[in-house]
Amino acid sequence: MTYVTLEKDPLIKVPNKIEYFYDPKYIYIPINNPANFRLGSLVLKDMPICHNYSSISGIIQKIDEHYLMISNDYREKCVRVKKINNKIDLYSLNKALSIYDHDLFLKFKSLKKIDNIVINAIDDELYVANNILNFKENIDDVLEILDKLIYLYKAKKTLIVIKNTESDLIDECLDLIGTYPSIKLTLLENYYLLERKDIILNKLKIDENKTLYLSMNELVKLEKIVKYNMVDSTFLLTICGDVLKENKVIMTKRYVSLKELVSKYLEIIDNNYVIIVNSLINGYETSLNLILTDDIKVIYFMKKKKVRESKCIRCGKCLEVCPKHIDILNGNDYEECISCGLCNYVCPSFINILSRIKKDGEKK
Ligand code: SF4
Ligand code: SF4
Repeated sequence: MTYVTLEKDPLIKVPNKIEYFYDPKYIYIPINNPANFRLGSLVLKDMPICHNYSSISGIIQKIDEHYLMISNDYREKCVRVKKINNKIDLYSLNKALSIYDHDLFLKFKSLKKIDNIVINAIDDELYVANNILNFKENIDDVLEILDKLIYLYKAKKTLIVIKNTESDLIDECLDLIGTYPSIKLTLLENYYLLERKDIILNKLKIDENKTLYLSMNELVKLEKIVKYNMVDSTFLLTICGDVLKENKVIMTKRYVSLKELVSKYLEIIDNNYVIIVNSLINGYETSLNLILTDDIKVIYFMKKKKVRESKCIRCGKCLEVCPKHIDILNGNDYEECISCGLCNYVCPSFINILSRIKKDGEKK
């Protein structure tokens, strides 16, 4: 595979600190059974609502077919009192994850043996710094919980992977990591796609079947869930772009509206923009009405640009970069596509190869 480094616009600065948005006026929780709710009833923080958990306490203001609008009473009245668990063992770890984060629970459950632990602090997307800032902000807690995991699972090899361009953090880590001899820092080049589990484990030559693989954001979340035995109702989001006065990384409550967050934290300096979610290469367009959920890691506010597609000049650049070696020009092996969008990114004729692949998949 040919690794690619994405080109950055030097005028868009990557944020270097986390800001916190814990007091939204309203949240909007997705539902599928409106008849089960009553206007004016009290909702507590962490209360389960249709496979989700409320991220605030407050009153139901509106019941829509698809969501509940809850107004914040700013009391943070919780379903359970926050209690610190100082004795983390396999039983308490599994129990907390099985109740409060099913995806993380399955990651542990799917492994018969954990020989290696790989924590990935790389953010692939341009101008995004969620994993790395989360690491910086929680470095002591991260090293402590990781040391605990190594002990509980008797892991032989444990790596924290970061980009070799993060010089400030590397110095800080080297100072602290010395007290944890089982944890090694691995520095990798600034290539695109190293945030992906399959690509990074392949590059590190580590067996996927015996490896617990977590992003840094997942490890920080795990630490909070296991330590406090409660759901983590927040997540990290980068908001950036060339029409914003300043870019931000914000720790926000779930189910807040993008409009409210923008009005409090961001200044838009050019109104001719598009909002793109999760990737400049293969993300999707949205509006300010978007409700923020934890599968969103970045929202771009970018100037609208006209790009004209032209004929393929058979330069072969798309073939060179494709991590799955797909025969793009002849339309073979499309089912292997991982939708990384690199072919689109390098194409000098601005051909939307990825959308052609998707259409081809739909036909079949
Ligand atoms: S990169 Fe674009 S122009 Fe070049 S071969 Fe691929 S599709 Fe054709
Ligand atoms: S989007 Fe699909 S075809 Fe294009 S480079 Fe990525 S894996 Fe290859």
